[in-house]
Amino acid sequence: MPREEHVFNPLALGPESEGGAVAGGAARGDASRAEGASGEALLELGLRPARLEEFIGQERIVGDLSVALRAAGGRGEALDHVLFSGPPGLGKTSLARILAGEMGTRLHATSGPALEKPKDLVGILSQLQRGDVLFIDEIHRVPTTVEEYLYTAMEDFAVEVPIDSGPHARLVSWRLEPFTLVGATTREGLLSAPFRARFGLFERLDPYPVEDLITILLRAAELLSVGLDVEGARLLAERSRGTPRLAVRFLRRARDRAQVAGRQTIDAPLARETFEQLGVDEMGLEEMDRRILRCLAASGGGPLALKTIAAVVDENGDTIENAYEPHLLRQGLLRKTARGRILTPAGAAAIGVRLDPPSEGSDQGRLFP
Ligand code: ADP
Repeated sequence: MPREEHVFNPLALGPESEGGAVAGGAARGDASRAEGASGEALLELGLRPARLEEFIGQERIVGDLSVALRAAGGRGEALDHVLFSGPPGLGKTSLARILAGEMGTRLHATSGPALEKPKDLVGILSQLQRGDVLFIDEIHRVPTTVEEYLYTAMEDFAVEVPIDSGPHARLVSWRLEPFTLVGATTREGLLSAPFRARFGLFERLDPYPVEDLITILLRAAELLSVGLDVEGARLLAERSRGTPRLAVRFLRRARDRAQVAGRQTIDAPLARETFEQLGVDEMGLEEMDRRILRCLAASGGGPLALKTIAAVVDENGDTIENAYEPHLLRQGLLRKTARGRILTPAGAAAIGVRLDPPSEGSDQGRLFP
């Protein structure tokens, strides 16, 4: 097939052409994506840390990124491609925005499911200027056909697009400006090895310790202009499953409660009342967690397949796996086996039932209501 070579001229396309939010730095990126978003979503955007030094916790990652940023800046090059993995709400998107902000470049945000066809990707790539950050959330959901285009884009800063068919068919090779791909995934195991190998930096985010969540909450309370004492912050932090997004969400609910009750400060009693209203218990379990555990209990403790649980509790299997299970597993309330999910004695206790220890050679114990 004949080949043609071209260079994309991103300036000709304008910053808002199809394919994702484009922004002059972190703050504008947030605003463009938030168009039509609820007040809550806008609020969350305002709470996102804008600079690396404002990002609380995950010190090793912040250290790695700071070195990589300084080195790339010193060489006048784009930052190496970065892959962030970890459960939702731990700060992957925030870090992507921070990277663009720190480099003084634009952030283009999209997600794996939005890149249905190669042309969706090419549309975004064509807008990238030198050093820009292309953020792909849920990158494990990028279709294989699109993934292959990403390989050459990442490695050679070029894409080859087939144009026309039959006798006029030709490959058009587009050169791209050097850019940084920042991928975020909750399921790093689903990324193919060749894809993973193309990232220079691979950072796994872990749940935050309570002390870091307290610092995040105190900062957020200041930004929201609401009083929060340390005991109140500790209580909110302890039930937040190591997740800043949850901690901030609880803070907002507590703030609503304080406002309605005419109280100035969120203290431990007010935080406790908020959790009672939200149905969040001392272990940080919400109603959906309890439904998952009750579903297992109702089947004698399991093992149950994820899709069975999903059907019974009426929730998407992916959401159960990504958002609910990690906490249940960490707390030892549920176990994954080759035959399915199993309720542990601690999991049974958490919903007020008793599970006898498993007999020799069996996966599961007997359940007593
Ligand atoms: P993810 O992309 O991993 O789902 P986000 O970056 O969207 O997570 O973070 C969710 C919210 O949690 C952000 O809006 C921000 O308010 C807060 N947040 C996350 N990590 C931190 C942190 N390290 N310091 C301060 N706030 C944070």
